[in-house]
Amino acid sequence: MTLGDFEEMMDSCVRCSKCKFIPQIQIKSKRFSHICPSIEYYNFHAYSGGGRMIMANALHRGRIEFTPEMLEVLYSCTNCGGCEISCKWVYDLEPNEVIHELRVAAVESGAGPLPKHKKYIDLVDRNQNPYGEPSEKRPAWLEDDIELDENSSTIFFVGCTAAYRREEIAKSTARVLNAGGEKFRILGTDEVCCGSPVYRVGDKTKAIEIMKRNIELFRERGVERIVTSCAGCFNMLKTEYPRYVEHEFEVVHISQLLETMLSEGRIKPTREVPMKVTYHDPCHLGRMSEPYEPYEGEKIEILSQVYMWDPPKPERRGAGGVYDAPRNVLKQIPGVELIEMERIREYSYCCGAGGGVKSAFPAFALWTGGERVQEAEATGAEGIVSVCPFCSTNIRDALKSRESKMEYYDLTELVLLSLEGGD
Ligand code: SF4
Ligand code: SF4
Repeated sequence: MTLGDFEEMMDSCVRCSKCKFIPQIQIKSKRFSHICPSIEYYNFHAYSGGGRMIMANALHRGRIEFTPEMLEVLYSCTNCGGCEISCKWVYDLEPNEVIHELRVAAVESGAGPLPKHKKYIDLVDRNQNPYGEPSEKRPAWLEDDIELDENSSTIFFVGCTAAYRREEIAKSTARVLNAGGEKFRILGTDEVCCGSPVYRVGDKTKAIEIMKRNIELFRERGVERIVTSCAGCFNMLKTEYPRYVEHEFEVVHISQLLETMLSEGRIKPTREVPMKVTYHDPCHLGRMSEPYEPYEGEKIEILSQVYMWDPPKPERRGAGGVYDAPRNVLKQIPGVELIEMERIREYSYCCGAGGGVKSAFPAFALWTGGERVQEAEATGAEGIVSVCPFCSTNIRDALKSRESKMEYYDLTELVLLSLEGGD
């Protein structure tokens, strides 16, 4: 798709600002009513989903050009997709898709992405990961007690963040897989970035190259099923890859597999973990993980200013994301009490790290993480649980900067704590 495919949509934005907040019926307090971290932090309409659509439309119609100021606005967005869910309640537009296409246009024109993004894209080119770490170090997290089965058609796609920065999540994921008797292997030094950091900042060409390379590798290695512990990898492999490349693989997130293992009695949490926790929904495991179906029908005016879609437009309102699996797992851990935050499921507030924001706008990323931490603290819980190494990094940074008493846990770590012999 290109910006031109969104012409009608960009013209339809009525500047109502509903994309700045969670839908009214879901609001529980003014304090936690926003959905868009960008508008909340920068407080100027251009920094909202609707504002960026106006910008995209103006560029598409040749009324403006890319400038450093405009790029700054364009990239101060975590690609969390919250604006899209809120707009769909009223006007059914897709601001997050438009923002992505505007980023693609920025890259294709040579204006984008930002220098920080270019730097990590170069690292992905050279080292196959955005951290610039050597491939040989990718499986360094693997410990002797973790059992791999080199004949399995299931791989644990570790992802760059878990492999190089959040090794504890890679280890606990592998250990819960072992505990449930799930046979799996890893690609080790041959694993490469899923392409998410490159795709999200608009380098679609390079991202598609990475997708093709990964698909080829999966086929060569006889992979049939891919397990991820990262919401970003899950989103790319499950939702974005099928938009650009042929893809026959089953993709599951570890939270879904844990739910299955529990229901089949393959893991039995018996040890008490006495703790009140709250759960953070990663945007890319939740609202953004529904399949994207490009719409090719028509908008028909049936009465004055009353429109309908012919044929009916497929709904993509975030409700079909992965929300129940992690919650159902938490509820089966003895002693764990789950207390929900105000913004949950498709109305969840972003952790603040995505869309290239953590690298280019660290202060904004930290502020957003701090907002989410304050919402978590308001529940009275002692722990904040999630299922994404990238969310983990930003939320941990925010907990530290706020000197919060809360602790962050990956879901797999809590499950391990609840198993006999698992620490
Ligand atoms: S993008 Fe949608 S919700 Fe936002 S201002 Fe435009 S019409 Fe309103
Ligand atoms: S994707 Fe998220 S940060 Fe970006 S404009 Fe939409 S709600 Fe705001």
